[in-house]
Amino acid sequence: MKTLVYSLRSMGIALKNAIRPPTTEGFGHPERVRPERYRNSFALVYEPVGENTPESGPEEACIGCRKCELICPSAIITVKAAKKGVSPTTGKKRGYLDDYTLDMNACIFCELCVQVCPTDAIVMCKEPTEPVFFREDLLLTKDKLYANEHLRKPAWATGAKLVDMQDPNRLSPEQQAAKDAQMAAAAAKKAELAAQKAAEEAKAAEEKAAEEAKAAEEKAAGEAKPAEVAAAEEAKPAEEAAPTAPPEAGADGAEEVRS
Ligand code: SF4
Ligand code: SF4
Repeated sequence: MKTLVYSLRSMGIALKNAIRPPTTEGFGHPERVRPERYRNSFALVYEPVGENTPESGPEEACIGCRKCELICPSAIITVKAAKKGVSPTTGKKRGYLDDYTLDMNACIFCELCVQVCPTDAIVMCKEPTEPVFFREDLLLTKDKLYANEHLRKPAWATGAKLVDMQDPNRLSPEQQAAKDAQMAAAAAKKAELAAQKAAEEAKAAEEKAAEEAKAAEEKAAGEAKPAEVAAAEEAKPAEEAAPTAPPEAGADGAEEVRS
């Protein structure tokens, strides 16, 4: 009897679920509304149009610095840098990329690779990737990554935006340059004031030394004078006591003429 009751109850639950609308959705039918910051897959980008001359064409933004490779917690990025060369756009020496692979099999979508990129060369994409049957299909090669720039919409973030978000008070490069110039001017002014003060101190020391030398000279002269006077006074009685010498006879013939 108990068994019959359990069976009937199970059949009731099964019938109820059979006519209930499904709670799952088929992939892509209809397409799910994704949150604003949804991200999936990756793209490597070229420099924005406008920063390139018509002759040079767009240049790849990646400079092969390997920061993304080093920060990736899943260690799924491999960067092979090419030899450095002169940019036809800027005329400056820069790095280039030789090869790049990103294995999405183990990606945890942390976006750290995007955040550290100094040139905003790697971005994540907003569009979901198609399901694949083989793991190898989840390996994004350099060509696939560059193709994704045009095939998929980029997510909102770039490295610069993510860094700004973490530090909203960070100065723009222009503001930083202005601040650096201001600080350099203040340092130059400080050095100038220090030099001025040192010169004033040296002058004061010189004047003091001259005054001291003058005072020492005067003191020495003051001490020497009484000694001179005393010596003169000592010499005077001796001079007075000494007999006056007779004038030499015939010196000029005048004495002879008088006698
Ligand atoms: S999102 Fe994170 S795990 Fe995925 S490739 Fe970038 S750094 Fe590695
Ligand atoms: S994608 Fe960015 S971080 Fe990675 S190697 Fe290129 S420039 Fe460096």
